[in-house]
Amino acid sequence: MSRPIIEISGLRKSFGSNTVLKDINLQVERGQVVALIGPSGSGKSTLLRCINLLSVPNGGRITVGEQSLEFNGRQTTLPKEKNLAKFRASTGMVFQHFNLFPHMTALQNVMEGPVTVLKTSKAEAEARARELLGKVGLSERADYYPDKLSGGQKQRVAIARALAMKPAVMLFDEATSALDPELVGEVLNVIKGLVKEGMTMILVTHEIAFAREVADQVIFMRDGVVAECGPPSIVIDNPRQESTRAFLGRFK
Ligand code: ADP
Ligand code: MG
Repeated sequence: MSRPIIEISGLRKSFGSNTVLKDINLQVERGQVVALIGPSGSGKSTLLRCINLLSVPNGGRITVGEQSLEFNGRQTTLPKEKNLAKFRASTGMVFQHFNLFPHMTALQNVMEGPVTVLKTSKAEAEARARELLGKVGLSERADYYPDKLSGGQKQRVAIARALAMKPAVMLFDEATSALDPELVGEVLNVIKGLVKEGMTMILVTHEIAFAREVADQVIFMRDGVVAECGPPSIVIDNPRQESTRAFLGRFK
């Protein structure tokens, strides 16, 4: 078997005296879908942000594809600007609150990364952006500004924008949590499409039924540690720990 596309070992992250990730170890195989679940405050967002270097870890090692970074104590030396951008571009992040650029149309939002970071020509970036907007069902909305789009449409633009950077892995942080219930399905359907294409993904989600359906591996976090990890049939349906059972019971 080939090497995992993501390998995290001994990952630690503190905010002041608050240690929110304590020795996280995990591996994601190419094409795997990982659901990251657990109570609020357990460190799920921080873990995704560390993988994308939006937060800088205090210790441990993160490997994404061929690129590996080691963090050592307080003074983490990050790679030079160019390598940092390259490392970051290997994962695409989708946030709960979309984070679209409000002054740009849907099309411009999707073109921005490729043009400014990847130095793709405008013509090529536009063609690709139109293709991606088509893929998320928004060809007709290419020239709309975010404030003229529904939450579900904004999130689909955000997914297209992340895909435009051709990431090796997609990271979703509660991508449907801010949506009205009737808009959740359209976003989950786009994610399901990516699952079918074999995209590697880590999904932080409270959609437990969805996690059971699409995930190869479920990671249950509690208090900054991986409390349980395994296939949905174990972690969701037969968790080992009583507190995992209690947490999941709320979604039944
Ligand atoms: P989750 O996504 O599982 O709800 P988070 O990763 O957002 O959890 O938060 C884990 C812990 O880290 C919480 O105690 C939170 O208050 C703390 N935390 C997260 N981000 C910051 C930050 N930028 N500064 C200080 N504390 C933070
Ligand atoms: Mg969170």
